Amino acid sequence: MNVLEEMQSYGHERVAFHHDAKTGLTAIIAIHSPVLGNALGGTRRWAYATENDALFDVLRLSEGMTYKAAASGLPMGGAKSVIIMPNAGHQPTEAEARAMGRFVDTFAGKYIAAEDVGVSPQFCDWMALETKHVMGGNTVSHGGDPSPYTALGCFNSMKACLAHTGRKVDFSNLTVAIQGCGATGYKLAKLLRQSGAAVLVTDVHVPTMKRAVEELGCVALGNDKNLLEEKVDILAPCALGGVLDAKTIAGLRCQIVCGTANNQLRNPNEDGDALAKRGILYSPDFVANAGGLIRLAGLYLGMTEGEIDHKISEIETTTAAVLKQASGGSTGAAAIAFAKAKIAAGAAKKQMAGAGCGTGCGCKA
Ligand code: NAD
Repeated sequence: MNVLEEMQSYGHERVAFHHDAKTGLTAIIAIHSPVLGNALGGTRRWAYATENDALFDVLRLSEGMTYKAAASGLPMGGAKSVIIMPNAGHQPTEAEARAMGRFVDTFAGKYIAAEDVGVSPQFCDWMALETKHVMGGNTVSHGGDPSPYTALGCFNSMKACLAHTGRKVDFSNLTVAIQGCGATGYKLAKLLRQSGAAVLVTDVHVPTMKRAVEELGCVALGNDKNLLEEKVDILAPCALGGVLDAKTIAGLRCQIVCGTANNQLRNPNEDGDALAKRGILYSPDFVANAGGLIRLAGLYLGMTEGEIDHKISEIETTTAAVLKQASGGSTGAAAIAFAKAKIAAGAAKKQMAGAGCGTGCGCKA
């Protein structure tokens, strides 16, 4: 993979690679767009098969963050980071997190780290021992675990999907299939069960799946293939990205796809159209899963609890607006157009507010 070519094609401003000789940490930070402001995006710890896989992941995730922040109406850009674990079972340590914190600090606040898959509030607090540009910890940094807010935002997005398909916004007679019942999937399952829905689950980590069955009364399905091809009202991908491709889309028997996972479409240009052609309503991932970002970015920006809660509730109206704008075509493409319009409007507003004549001379003309 040619990094500069990829950056140009995705539209990234900066991609930085880091190796810390003392701890062995290898990591990448990608800033996609700083147009609307500093960028908050989680740090993912993952044992990637190749360096290219890590790069691909961080490029796509950071691009998604730009759209997520913009579509949510946050004055923030998009960025993300990945830590390349040496092997799958590699345990996080304070030394590793502090090394990552020092790397984050080199961006002087242009990038603000937080949780993603494999990173806990404790890890965020360890990073925060080295930099103030971290959210999502409980002691040194603040904000805590964003997953309850991500799950709630996804639940709100589901309501808009039901209304868009002309159905009653009532979960009591619905069946929802959740792929992955970790931090977000479990909490989404809980909200759905409390609202009367039947919930089917899979998880590659069997104890996690058992917990959803025992504590929430979910029904476990054997594997992902069974789950994806089960006849359900809503499919909620809540594990990793890339679950929707030509093959899986052909086998789906759901009416709506709405989950917390990032980058659910393997090939955004084709898979959004394929879903629309099959008459399956897809709630774009970065719209549906914005609750956690809204929570942490809201706290970072000094919003009140009430303002943050209101913004998370607005995921329902944002989803409705994007679905309407798609007018039967790819909802993924409509969401990107929706976000890009917000970025253009925000950039124009910023220029009007203070850029002067545009030559950089500092005048207000
Ligand atoms: P998590 O690691 O807590 O949970 C993911 C679960 O998926 C795990 O239990 C894992 O065992 C399971 N899993 C992995 N591959 C699977 C597969 N093929 N089939 C079934 N289960 C599988 O992560 P999370 O925080 O719940 O995040 C899940 C997704 O949501 C990720 O894509 C993440 O980027 C996205 N997301 C999370 C947040 C958040 O607030 N945590 C916010 C926005 C987006």
